[in-house]
Amino acid sequence: MLEPTSILIIYTGGTIGMIMHPDSKTLKPFNFDNIDKQIPELKRFHYQLDFHCFDPLMDSSNMNPEVWIQLVRIIKDNYENYDGFVVLHGSDTMAYTASALSFLLENLNKPVIFTGSQLPLGVLRTDGRENFITAIELAAAKEEETPLVPEVCIYFENQLMRANRTMKYNAANFNAFVSGNYPLLAEAGVYLKYNHEVIHKPNFKKLKIHTKMSDQVGILKLFPGINPHFVDAVLQTPKIRGIVMETFGAGNASTEAWFIKKLRKAIEKGIYIINVSQCLSGSVEHGKYETSLALEEIGVISGKDISTEAAITKLMYVLGQDYPNDLVDKLLRNSLRGEMTT
Ligand code: ASP
Repeated sequence: MLEPTSILIIYTGGTIGMIMHPDSKTLKPFNFDNIDKQIPELKRFHYQLDFHCFDPLMDSSNMNPEVWIQLVRIIKDNYENYDGFVVLHGSDTMAYTASALSFLLENLNKPVIFTGSQLPLGVLRTDGRENFITAIELAAAKEEETPLVPEVCIYFENQLMRANRTMKYNAANFNAFVSGNYPLLAEAGVYLKYNHEVIHKPNFKKLKIHTKMSDQVGILKLFPGINPHFVDAVLQTPKIRGIVMETFGAGNASTEAWFIKKLRKAIEKGIYIINVSQCLSGSVEHGKYETSLALEEIGVISGKDISTEAAITKLMYVLGQDYPNDLVDKLLRNSLRGEMTT
């Protein structure tokens, strides 16, 4: 007899499983053990659905690399026993966690679908029910025994996106995530429509996990009038090794001598600086304007069309390995998991 499709659901916390505290009226996570009572439809899947609930449950604002590595280990330990994984996670930092996992899970050949919701499951108009049910269907989808989406994704409000291309851009709408620089992997309407050409093909290699991340990183968001002392404070952070610099438009920054000089000195000291655009969509193009030419000349790395979420987690991952400098430089300039267009 054929084994039923099996999906491991990892519940980390987040709005999807929250309830309103009667006194304070703030949302707090509740225990997810009675999920089948909340969503009786789950039984109709005829899949084997198993749950791994975090204890304590987490609001995703408290996420951190240790928990990302814990998630990686849970997936690794259960990899052979399940056809796919659904991770229920708060939407606030979901793009960071899911991007981090895309780097930490090398040779992933099974679906890892992140989802959550803007309204708790217990609320009548919840978006969580549909997000959850469809995420399970996506994690289970196969064609001739091969998973249709063998990568880390975010599914939210009818859209399946490559995780390391997403950002949360809306705190109020059900449609909370955007994949500004990469097409949707699938769309859920009457049918689940897969965009096969843009989905990773499985490589059938053995899963390799990475369990180290560096915290010697930071984000420097530029703004007109930025104070030199503030730039110094960032660049001279003790032990800092990598910085994601959010610039204007197509990767432009001030050409003022003091600014370029500070960046040059930091790069000479061995700090990696990745140039990422503040725009939701479009790419850094060093040399398109004079205002980015100097950045290229002093050795700032173009992040091309990478998101800040993917850039910072990639930096944490790459600097967490004991790679020599030239390899770090090469990895940062190239796409590792489809996170940027090269
Ligand atoms: N604060 C919540 C969290 O990110 C919001 C959500 O779940 O969407 O955990």
